[in-house]
Amino acid sequence: MIHRIPLVMIVTSDIAGQVRGKGFPAAWLEERLEQGVGFTHTNHMINCWGTIPATPWGPLGDLALMADPATEVRVDFGDGSPDEWFMLGGLCTMDGGPWECCLRHYLASALESLREETGLTLVAAFEHEFHDGGLAERGGDSYSLDKVRRAGDFPGVVLHALEAAGAEPETFLPEFGRSQFEFTVRPALGMVAADRAIIAREMVRAAARRLDRDVSFSPQVDPAGPGNGVHIHMSFRDRDGRPVSHDPSQPSGLAARMGSFVAGILKRLPALVAVTAPSAASYQRLKPHSWSSAYNNLGWRDREAAVRICPGPETPGADVASAFNVEFRAGDAAASPWLQLGILVRAGLEGIREGLPTPEPVSSDPDAMSDDERGEHGVERLPVSLGEALDRLECAPDAGTLLPGELLEAYVMHKRGELDGIAGLTPEEVCRRYRDVY
Ligand code: GLU
Ligand code: MG
Repeated sequence: MIHRIPLVMIVTSDIAGQVRGKGFPAAWLEERLEQGVGFTHTNHMINCWGTIPATPWGPLGDLALMADPATEVRVDFGDGSPDEWFMLGGLCTMDGGPWECCLRHYLASALESLREETGLTLVAAFEHEFHDGGLAERGGDSYSLDKVRRAGDFPGVVLHALEAAGAEPETFLPEFGRSQFEFTVRPALGMVAADRAIIAREMVRAAARRLDRDVSFSPQVDPAGPGNGVHIHMSFRDRDGRPVSHDPSQPSGLAARMGSFVAGILKRLPALVAVTAPSAASYQRLKPHSWSSAYNNLGWRDREAAVRICPGPETPGADVASAFNVEFRAGDAAASPWLQLGILVRAGLEGIREGLPTPEPVSSDPDAMSDDERGEHGVERLPVSLGEALDRLECAPDAGTLLPGELLEAYVMHKRGELDGIAGLTPEEVCRRYRDVY
């Protein structure tokens, strides 16, 4: 048998939505939990192409990537391959305080502000779609038993990895697109839910690596087929853990603060979509009539709305309040879940602060409306490219509240550099480039 020393990685999820970090021999774990591993500010500017076209920080500065031991993942695949062994962490300055551009701290402080100001705790679940490029394809097998059968060991190994990593898998299904699958995990408190999303993607990749599959979470693997969405389900609990998102007396069922939270998100969506759908390929997905979302509308059980009010149990005596949740659909896996959920919470909290009324769910197709009709419904088309979304973000009046400190400048600089890296490519080539890196 081959000899090896187990390697442990401390990793973070960065602006590129990539999971990067450093490793060490397992015997050093205790020490590394105290000291972290060294990192530098400009690591955040490594884009998904692996280049650093520009950086506000240059080669200067040191940070410590500090692990949160509660996120430890150690998964044995039983095939003799090394365990997947890593922990997620946040970036700290050398005096131990949070770095203002650390995305894990960004989410933590958003959740903390929500709790402090409103007493509300966010419960969330990230739902993921992806493509398995290694699947022997046959057309017409959407949702079919045969598609799962042809995937062989893959679904079961993914479920094992998710379960062993503590991600609590709930479903695995053969989605609509060719070679497309979806899985869901159980809802959890905000930070756990986002950590879980990061871990879950890695577990799918880890399973794929061991079975020689070629998976991609890219929002659009080819311009013609359906996109891969990340749908984020959200609900509130009060200080005593009671579900408080639902109000049966309201026509849409949304309790007032949940309504304001959703209104805050939808109001800022044309700007913040630059963060939740952060790649050039993302805008090939966010087209009308592609079961993703293309307008900043609220929809009642509508799978093309940016925020969908999800179905709940309707049988007599059912616990509607606990099941009630809204689903944000204008997101994808090119984003860091910490950043994605963090910006939604910040925008939603602004909506609560402003006391915005619950938006009227739009029951007809916003794409079939005239501009005037859309105006009456308070609905507008989302940006049609990442460049346009970044413009909207930069000139949004509250951009500095959504991405405080140096994060706004770093984010926009990072993403403009990413776009320069694919300038002049055809939509097919753009999809291919993103398919390889997500
Ligand atoms: N694939 C669709 C998307 O890009 C979602 C389909 C569905 O599950 O409703 O978001
Ligand atoms: Mg789906």
